[in-house]
Amino acid sequence: MVELVVLGAGVAGLATAHRARRAGREVRVLEASDRAGGLVRSVRRDGLLLEQGPQALQATAELATLVDELGLRERLVTPAPDAALRWILHEGQRVALPRGPRELVGWPAVRPWELVRLAAEPLVGGTAPASETVTAFARRRFGPAGARLVDPLVAGIFGGDPDELEVQSALPSLAGLERAHGSVLRGALRRRPAVDLPRGPLSFDDGVETLVRAMARGLGDDLHLGCGVRGLEAVPDGWRVSHAGGSLVAREVVVAAPLAQASRWLRAPELAVPSSPIAAVHLAFRREDVERLPRGFGWLAPRRERLDVLGGLYVSATFPGHAPGCVLVRVMLGGTRAPSRALGSDAELVAAAWAAVAEVDGLRAAPAVVDVVRHPHGIPQYRLGHAERVAAWQRRWPGLRFVGWETTGIGVSHQLVAAGASGPA
Ligand SMILES: Cc1cc2nc3c(=O)[nH]c(=O)nc-3n(C[C@H](O)[C@H](O)[C@H](O)COP(=O)(O)OP(=O)(O)OC[C@H]3O[C@@H](n4cnc5c(N)ncnc54)[C@H](O)[C@@H]3O)c2cc1C
Repeated sequence: MVELVVLGAGVAGLATAHRARRAGREVRVLEASDRAGGLVRSVRRDGLLLEQGPQALQATAELATLVDELGLRERLVTPAPDAALRWILHEGQRVALPRGPRELVGWPAVRPWELVRLAAEPLVGGTAPASETVTAFARRRFGPAGARLVDPLVAGIFGGDPDELEVQSALPSLAGLERAHGSVLRGALRRRPAVDLPRGPLSFDDGVETLVRAMARGLGDDLHLGCGVRGLEAVPDGWRVSHAGGSLVAREVVVAAPLAQASRWLRAPELAVPSSPIAAVHLAFRREDVERLPRGFGWLAPRRERLDVLGGLYVSATFPGHAPGCVLVRVMLGGTRAPSRALGSDAELVAAAWAAVAEVDGLRAAPAVVDVVRHPHGIPQYRLGHAERVAAWQRRWPGLRFVGWETTGIGVSHQLVAAGASGPA
């Protein structure tokens, strides 16, 4: 009997296995594809580093630990100082997001009387409901302007609809500030996270995939590629896992593969989280063709702007070494706003992305390189009741633990936290 078997070698599965190994546990990882990393994939093409999945990592304590354990500190890439500058679209114009309360005064996206309500957030009392939408939370804490401002944030992270997503699951740090301090603003002011890393967003010299490659290497022969799981059956003291190469029995199993697979193995159709297709289009322009270089991390488009895209990331402004001599922009399309938009032909996606950056950034020259990646299974959408549903699954199958972006959190940072929480079930 194996002590722990992890199903799926995306970042969630790899981090879980890595953490278990460090705790001295015997672990085996079974991965269907012939490479580890799942959605995390960094591709080099035409001198550019094109991220097919996550673009950047949050500077968290869990990442700092992992980077040191894997000996990757020298390979970290920190963002250009300007990356702290972020934009949203407001009435067709790009406006810089305020970086502190003072910059909110006179900010065009907030009316003066709304500012008073925003500033009064620490005075808002009452108890938070067990499950609440992002919009309801933002309106309750910050008034109507809060509800409006959270919309582009949700578009940027989930390509999702804040009227549908559960705040406790989708934006756990915001909800956590209210829980811990009785106010988001008070909590944010008091929070002094001691993280031994430069300020994010972060990457590596070979892109985000550097991190998963290093974890995969560290697992050595305990990582089995091309070993898709086919079945999962409860047996006395554990679980029998059938896979492409045979079967094994494990005391504990961590499911880090898509839930669509797990629901088949467990014959449990209710094991599902809705998702929305998304596509990312890279457009690289020769520097000499660009009059005004984009500055900052990028921009997001609120729903009411009725733009065809969710937002654009200024890759070359954030990580200049990833796109030498070029202006590289990554445009996101689709999400719940326009799911079919993510499934168009390459030509349609490129045309929509180019039209958007021409309008917003004045990037009208023909791009020298284009790259399209679709995620038809899409980004999970944590609708109301998500946290309770996941907790019920964990209770229903003792000895099985569900991790990954469909359950424990949307970003890589959440996968690293969940990996640390994976002790014996
Ligand atoms: C376009 C895009 C942009 C993003 N940007 C960011 C960002 O900037 N920052 C950030 O922090 N996060 C970002 N994310 C989110 C981040 O990518 C995810 O949090 C993370 O990659 C999810 O990892 P996972 O291991 O849960 O899932 P996956 O990566 O999907 O891993 C699941 C694994 O299970 C394997 N598998 C499937 N079937 C089987 C089977 N039968 N048996 C065994 N294995 C199986 C798959 O091959 C895969 O390797 C982005 C995501 C997308 C799509």
